[in-house]
Amino acid sequence: MSATIIDGKAIAADLRARVAAEVARVAGAHGFVPGIAVVLVGNDPASEVYVRTKTRQVVETGMRSFDQHLPDSAREDELLALVARLNADPAVHGILVQLPLPPQIDPQKVIAAIDPAKDVDGFHPLNAGRLARGLPGLVPCTPLACVILAKTVRPALAGLDAVVIGRSNIVGKPLVQLLIAESATVTVAHTKTRDLPALCRGKDLLFAAIGRAELVKGDWIKPGATVIDVGINRVTGADGKARIVGDVAFDEARAVAGAITPVPGGVGPMTIACLLVNTLRAACAARGLPAPAV
Ligand code: NAD
Repeated sequence: MSATIIDGKAIAADLRARVAAEVARVAGAHGFVPGIAVVLVGNDPASEVYVRTKTRQVVETGMRSFDQHLPDSAREDELLALVARLNADPAVHGILVQLPLPPQIDPQKVIAAIDPAKDVDGFHPLNAGRLARGLPGLVPCTPLACVILAKTVRPALAGLDAVVIGRSNIVGKPLVQLLIAESATVTVAHTKTRDLPALCRGKDLLFAAIGRAELVKGDWIKPGATVIDVGINRVTGADGKARIVGDVAFDEARAVAGAITPVPGGVGPMTIACLLVNTLRAACAARGLPAPAV
């Protein structure tokens, strides 16, 4: 058996088109344009690539982009003052501070300073709490992307056995909450998990958010399972060339799984599409409009 490849690129393009149509409808009917401020501090090459891609897609969907770039030497109080200005700016509906931040800045302080109504990354403690309580709020983009992708091949997750490998605040934990909300039965694995292969075998859904190149092997996967690979790992191949691989050994896994996301081209593009959805949602909420149907 060879797994269905869940084409994150195509699914994300479709979602972006729906966001763009809704942005145009909102602009026509209500006379405002959703806007997002992406804040980059320093010159981390990976962060610069992410920010460029985000900005391009924001503009392509007809939203306004208010990018902010502070130097690597920026002080914490400077960044907090910038966040305060963006919080107060009615044209800015979403604020995203690109992580990681330089060591002199406490990311938790910065995240907590963002107006929860503009927290399109969904990292603010209030939004994390709302998610844990099953209340509406802004949901972190990558976990949201994972669930949407899984549901393209298994529309109903209720009752399925899921394993989430990774317990970070930005992926693993919120993903667990979203899966609970879908009524899946969820097991969480992490560095202290005793027998990870045994834990994974028999699970209908496997989510890998680890950051370890090709850790998950084909014989960990239940035949027919849905595998969502969040990992982004840079490795050097036998030919000396660098390439990006996921947390799952893709060739082994695709021979066993029922469906699998590739890396690149799976969760990554959907994460940015979900950021656009969150920005549109935040903008509509700020104007007292119902949540957009995208
Ligand atoms: P993190 O380092 O914060 O967390 C990794 C988690 O994996 C930890 O909870 C840790 O306990 C667990 N872990 C590490 N090694 C393990 C092992 N050997 N066995 C079991 N568990 C283990 O990372 P993160 O921010 O959650 O990101 C995880 C991966 O996802 C990274 O590769 C990151 O680049 C990628 N990522 C991708 C996107 C995207 O848009 N596609 C977004 C965010 C993160």
